[in-house]
Amino acid sequence: MYICEKCGKEVSVKELESMPGLLRCPNCGHHVFIKKRPPITKKVKAV
Ligand SMILES: [Zn+2]
Repeated sequence: MYICEKCGKEVSVKELESMPGLLRCPNCGHHVFIKKRPPITKKVKAV
C-alpha cells in the first residue's frame, strides 16, 4: 500500500502497477508516493 504524499490518498500496489511509467495519484495527480508499512502485530500470550 502506498500513500500519496500530497493528499494522503491510499493507492494499492496493484493500482500503481496498472499504470506503468506514469505513477500518479488518481485523486490529485501528484506523483510522489510514500510506502505504507502495515502495522506490526505481535502476538502476545496472555498469562
Ligand atoms: Zn494525491
